[in-house]
Amino acid sequence: MHGAAGSGRTPTTRSAQSDVSLDLFPDTATRDDAGVLSLGETAATELAERFGTPLVVYCERTLVAQAQAYRCAEPDALVVYGVKAFPNVAILRLFAGLGLGADVSSLGELEFARRAGLGGTDLIVHGNNKSDVELTAAAAAEALVVLDSSDEVERAQQAGVRRVLVRLTPGVEAHTHRSIQTAHDESKFGLDPEQALGALAAARTTGLDPVGVHVHVGSQLERPDESLLAVDRVVDFCARCRDELGWTPQLVDLGGGFAVAQTPDERVTDGPVFAGKLAEHFRSAWPDKDQPRLAFEPGRSLVGRAGVTLYRVGATKRSGGVDYVAIDGGMSDNPRPQLYGARYHAILANRTAPPGGTFRVAGKHCENGDVLIDAIDLPRPRRGDLLAVPATGGYTLAMASNYNAAPRPAAVLVADGRARLIRRRETTDDLLAYET
Ligand SMILES: *Cc1c(COP(=O)(O)O)cnc(C)c1O
Repeated sequence: MHGAAGSGRTPTTRSAQSDVSLDLFPDTATRDDAGVLSLGETAATELAERFGTPLVVYCERTLVAQAQAYRCAEPDALVVYGVKAFPNVAILRLFAGLGLGADVSSLGELEFARRAGLGGTDLIVHGNNKSDVELTAAAAAEALVVLDSSDEVERAQQAGVRRVLVRLTPGVEAHTHRSIQTAHDESKFGLDPEQALGALAAARTTGLDPVGVHVHVGSQLERPDESLLAVDRVVDFCARCRDELGWTPQLVDLGGGFAVAQTPDERVTDGPVFAGKLAEHFRSAWPDKDQPRLAFEPGRSLVGRAGVTLYRVGATKRSGGVDYVAIDGGMSDNPRPQLYGARYHAILANRTAPPGGTFRVAGKHCENGDVLIDAIDLPRPRRGDLLAVPATGGYTLAMASNYNAAPRPAAVLVADGRARLIRRRETTDDLLAYET
C-alpha cells in the first residue's frame, strides 16, 4: 500500500522557521517558503489531492516517539493504548511492535486489538456494562478483565474469564469537563473501596485470579495534582487489601487521561512525564518491599499530536460582523467542540499570505452550532485553500458520525515521503448498503 506522495521539495527545518504555531503539529511538520505544510516529508497539498478531504494524517515518527517515551518513563510498566481514542489496526500493530498493549471497552475495540495480534495480559478489557458476549470474547483472548460492578464477578467467572483487575473509584474530581471525569464519588465507573474489597474477596472465592487494581481519573488531565491524590487512595486501598484480605496486587493500573495541547495558549504536562511522576509518587508511597508492576493506559496522548486534519475551504462570507470560512467537514468528523467545548488551532496549509483577520471556521452541517473554531487569525482564506487543524489524532474519527449522511473521512500514515492509507474513506454506497 506504500505509494510515493513525496513533494520532492526540500523542507525547511523546524528550527529555521519562525512559525511557533507548528509546535502543536507532529514532530516532522515543516513549512516551505511557499507556505506548503509537510508532514512526514509529504506535502499536505499532495495528500489532499491524492486522498481527498477531510483527511486525517498521522505522522508515524511522532507515534513511535511518543510510544517510546512512555516506555522510557517507566521501563518496567505495562503501557496499553486506550483504543477508543482512535481504533485503527495499523496503529495498533505499530504500537504492538514497540511493546505496547491495548485497552479496550467494547467488543468492536476488542476485535480491532485481536486483529492487530494482541491478547493475554497485553489486552485490558473495560466497561461499566459488559455484555456476556464481551466477557466471553475477553475470556477467549485470555485478556485481563477489569471488574466494574459486584455482579460482574460471577458473570466473568461463568464466561470463562481468569485474570481480573478491580476498578476502584478513588473519589477525586479531575479538573476537566464533567462528562470526562470518571473518578468522582458519583461516577458510573468503578467500585468504592468497600465494594471493591467485597469484589476482590468474592473473586478469590469464585476461582478468579485477581491480579490487581485499576483507577482512571478522567481525560484531558493537564496536571498531575488530582492523579497524585488518586495514587494515594490506591495505596491506602491496597494496604487495606493486605490487612483485611491478605492479598496484594501484582499489577497497579493507574489509567490514562493525559492531555494534549490543542491551542497555542494551552500548557499541559506531556503524558510520559505525567506517567513518570505518578510512578515516582507510587513508588515512594508504597509501604512494602515488593513493588507491584505499574500499568498506564494513554489514549489521546499517544495519537493526539501525531494527527492533523486537512480540510478544503469552500464558501467564505461575512455575516453580522463575523468572517465565516466554511470547510468540507465539521461536526460529523470532529464533534468535540459541540460535546466538550473543545478549542482548536488551524493554519493555512497550501500558501503563505499576510495576516487577513480573524475568522470563524464553520462546518458544512445543518446546525448553526457546527463551528469547529470560533475565532482564529489566518491569512484571508479563499475557496480551494487547505486548512490544517493540529492535535486531532484522538477522539475525532473515533467519534465521527454520518450526520447529514456524510461518509466518514479517510486516515493516512505518513513517513519519509510516503503515505499509506490506514482507513479508507467511506462512500455514499457504504451508507446506502445499510438501507433495507
Ligand atoms: C478513556 C480511557 C482511557 C484513555 O483515555 P485518554 O484520555 O485517551 O488517555 C484509559 N483508560 C480508561 C479506563 C478509559 O476509560
